[in-house]
Amino acid sequence: MQKKKIIILGAGISGLSTAWYLSRIGLPLEITILEKSSRAGGWMHTDHTTGFHFEKGPRTFKVEKAPSTMRLISELGLQDELIWSEAKPHHRYLWHEGELHRFPSNPISFLLSPITKGFIRALLTEWKKPIKIGDETVWEFVLRRFNYDVARLFFDPMVVGIFGGDICKISIRACFPNLKNWEEKYGSVTKGFFAKMKEKKGQPPYSKEIEKVPLSAIFSFRCGIEQLPQAIVNQIPATICYNREAKQILFEKDRVIVKTENEQFSADFLFCALPVTETGHLFENHAPEFSKEVLKIHSEGIVVVNFGYDAQVLPVQGFGYLTPTYAHEDILGVVFDSSVFSEHNRRPQETRLTIKLQEAGRSEEKNIDMALKGIRRHLGISQMPKAISFKSTPRAIPQYGIGHLEKMTELKNQFCKKLSRCQLVGNYLEGVSVDLCISRAKKAVDEWQSCLKSVS
Ligand SMILES: Cc1cc2nc3c(=O)[nH]c(=O)nc-3n(C[C@H](O)[C@H](O)[C@H](O)COP(=O)(O)OP(=O)(O)OC[C@H]3O[C@@H](n4cnc5c(N)ncnc54)[C@H](O)[C@@H]3O)c2cc1C
Repeated sequence: MQKKKIIILGAGISGLSTAWYLSRIGLPLEITILEKSSRAGGWMHTDHTTGFHFEKGPRTFKVEKAPSTMRLISELGLQDELIWSEAKPHHRYLWHEGELHRFPSNPISFLLSPITKGFIRALLTEWKKPIKIGDETVWEFVLRRFNYDVARLFFDPMVVGIFGGDICKISIRACFPNLKNWEEKYGSVTKGFFAKMKEKKGQPPYSKEIEKVPLSAIFSFRCGIEQLPQAIVNQIPATICYNREAKQILFEKDRVIVKTENEQFSADFLFCALPVTETGHLFENHAPEFSKEVLKIHSEGIVVVNFGYDAQVLPVQGFGYLTPTYAHEDILGVVFDSSVFSEHNRRPQETRLTIKLQEAGRSEEKNIDMALKGIRRHLGISQMPKAISFKSTPRAIPQYGIGHLEKMTELKNQFCKKLSRCQLVGNYLEGVSVDLCISRAKKAVDEWQSCLKSVS
């Protein structure tokens, strides 16, 4: 059988895991990845250049929320490279009414904490509220089933922390699918939660892929998050062409041509694993309806500032804290990295923090100043950091509005029908998390294989 040529656009986790799954299906393939930057990994980026270990994008995974990632780790033989968090998951804080409050970790603190009062009231009535079928915003859902305090003190900071987004705009079905499913299946979130607990009791509390790893465990890799994409790069039989930005796509007979600044690449099939805006622009001539729709998807910008100190400067230990929108703080959240993974500390006494701010076109100097002022007020840290790393991205996280998932399924199907030599992967399709990017890549390879006969 003749080797089929495949081009993958983008060497983020979506593109790399696509290459990984393609390399495992047993067909003779020649895979080329075109990557605009000089490195692989995209948002999965560990910065070792400052003398501190800093993460620029994702930094932790929870076993039960990362089934595809766990499978990939096991396939890559990376199990021995995993490290486990020492910070207890409940040691998370909320900046509320001018001070840090720890999220309750036991029933007594749950009853007494000022941040859970609204929750207790809501739980008394949530189970008897009427259900609503269909998608809505997270804000509408939580107000309808719980109350205003739960929306502003729990869900709002979570939405900001996970999606960098606006609780009044993003979809409950896309962002918290379990809650919506529980309402529709059991008639209430509370009933669904208890049903799930009961179901879990009968199952082993360990990962299926890696022996004796508890589902609640939180992990990274010995050399940081970038070790995962790097392991794929080291093991895939593909050529990665760095500093090659895909600028134009052409279709000629049964070939797909990708043009970069000075070269052109030709293949039988193309997998596009680019961010949503880049994808939309590249297909404007070939799939105008698709492009028009995906270019409407707003991506929220983010500023990530890492501070490294050669002393212990944190007043509390734990995962970090979030700020709710109502508090109008510049800082969206802070992760206490040195406390989460001490294996990444390079000195016996050090503190590493990651501070997230909203991207608003400010200068680097202004953002760093805001971060310094914020942690002085919230954590009482007035010492200047020994190392600083900075990254500002105007379009970082695609926002999933109401009906996003259904719309993407329809658009993707129409796209593949029209351009049968192309497949779509990426974080705007089925979820923004690394795990959902990996599972989308696996599905795209399966979908491609199943329609291969009709186009080859
Ligand atoms: C600050 C931050 C924190 C996050 N934290 C978490 C977390 O804790 N857990 C979690 O699960 N998820 C997290 N996410 C989300 C997750 O990291 C991303 O959704 C995921 O990594 C996206 O991977 P990707 O490969 O689809 O895209 P990307 O990582 O964006 O990769 C796309 C690649 O395409 C390249 N490219 C762009 N244009 C072109 C072109 N024209 N030609 C060729 N190449 C091009 C880019 O250089 C890049 O390498 C976070 C995201 C951010 C921004």
